Amino acid sequence: MKKQHGPAFKAQQIELAQCPTCKGRTVVRGVFHDLACVQCNASGWVDAQTGDALPLELLVTALGSMLHQAMRNLELSRRIELLSGPAAIYQQNNRRGAGGSNYTGD
Ligand SMILES: [Zn+2]
Repeated sequence: MKKQHGPAFKAQQIELAQCPTCKGRTVVRGVFHDLACVQCNASGWVDAQTGDALPLELLVTALGSMLHQAMRNLELSRRIELLSGPAAIYQQNNRRGAGGSNYTGD
C-alpha cells in the first residue's frame, strides 16, 4: 500500500454545490426530529460534478477554501464600501438574499 494522499489531492480544486437533499441545511426532516443529511455528510454541500458527498478530508479542504474566498470577498466589499462612502451603504447591502429566501427552520 502506497501512501498517495496529500499531494495528488491538494492541487485539485473541488467545486461544491448546495446539497439538493437538505438544501444546504445539513439536516433533513425526520418523523420526530431533524436527522443529519446523509447525502452531503451533513455538510450542506456536495461535489458539484457528481452530486455526491465528499470524503471528509476533501470536504474540509473544499469548505476551507470556500470560506477563505468568502472572507476575502467580504473584506473586499467592506473596503469598497469604505472607499465609496457613508455607512448607509453598509446597511442597505447587508445580507440581501444570500442563498435564497427558502428558510424553513423553526
Ligand atoms: Zn444534505
